[in-house]
Amino acid sequence: MNILTFDIEDWYNCDFITPDLNWEKYEVRIYKGVERILDELDIRKVKATFFCLGWIAAKHPSVIRWIYNNGHQIGCHSYQHELSYRFDRNGFMQDTEKAKKQIEDLIGEGINAFRAPGFSITERNIWSLEVLAELGFEYDSSIFPAPHDYGGFKSFGTAEPTLLKLSNGAKIKEFPINIKHLFVKDLVFSGGGYFRLFPYKLIKNWSANSSYLMTYFHPRDFDPGQPIIETLPLMRKFKSYVGLSGAFVKFQKLLNDFDFISIQEASQRVEWNTAKVLNLYEEPVQVNDWKTAKVPA
Ligand SMILES: [Zn+2]
Repeated sequence: MNILTFDIEDWYNCDFITPDLNWEKYEVRIYKGVERILDELDIRKVKATFFCLGWIAAKHPSVIRWIYNNGHQIGCHSYQHELSYRFDRNGFMQDTEKAKKQIEDLIGEGINAFRAPGFSITERNIWSLEVLAELGFEYDSSIFPAPHDYGGFKSFGTAEPTLLKLSNGAKIKEFPINIKHLFVKDLVFSGGGYFRLFPYKLIKNWSANSSYLMTYFHPRDFDPGQPIIETLPLMRKFKSYVGLSGAFVKFQKLLNDFDFISIQEASQRVEWNTAKVLNLYEEPVQVNDWKTAKVPA
C-alpha cells in the first residue's frame, strides 16, 4: 500500500525558517509549486491527500479550491503550522477548529483527515487525538513511530494503519509515517530532506521493500528557486535545501514506478476489523518524563 500525501504550505510557513511569523512579506511561490504537482498527478490519473494550512485557505483560497476541484482529498495541517504539543488542549482545539472551518467553508464540504506540523503528536499529547475525534476527524497521519527531533512516538511499534482507541470512547484511524532504520537513526525517506538527499535507486529499493509506504511532500521540496535563508543553523539549512534541484525528477520517477492512492482510498482497503489496535488513554505525563513515557498497553 503506497499512500501519496502533501503538506500544503509555502516555503516560509515554518517558524524555524521565518520565526517572525510575519508571513505577508515573503515571496509567494505556492501557486507554481502546487500547479506542477497537480499536473504530474493529472497526467497519471493519481489521487492524493493534501493536508492544507488554514492560513493558506484564508490567504490563497484558490490554491485549495484548485486541488479540491482536481478531485483530491483535502485534509487539515493546522491553522498556522504550530507544533501540536506546544498548545494546551484548549488551544489545540481552537486552532484546529479554526483551520477546519476555514477549509470546509472554502470547499463547501466536510474534511476528516489531519496531519500535525512536524509529526508533533507524541506520547506526551495523546489528548490531541481525542480533540481530533471530538472535532469529527476520522483519520490522522501525525505519528512518527520512532524517536524524532520533535519527540516522536517511540512506543507506537510497526508503522501500519492502526486503530487508535481513545479514553473518550472515540476511535481514530492512524496512518503513521513509515521509517527506515539506517545505522543508528530512524529516518523517513519518503519525503522531506532524506528523499532529496538519497539517490533514487535507494529510495526505489526501500519503497519496493515497504509493505506500507506513507509519503509526505511539500511544494518547496521541489523548488530550487525558493529564497534561501542564510542564517539557518547548518543542520537545518542542510535539511531544508539539500538536493532541491533533482528532487522533482525523483518525484516523477517515484510516480512512474509505484501506484499511489489517497488516505481515503487506503482506508477502504484496510480490514479495520483485523487491523492493529492501540489502546491509548489520557494519562498526565510529566514534561520532563515525556522522552521515556510509555503508552499503556
Ligand atoms: Zn508542514
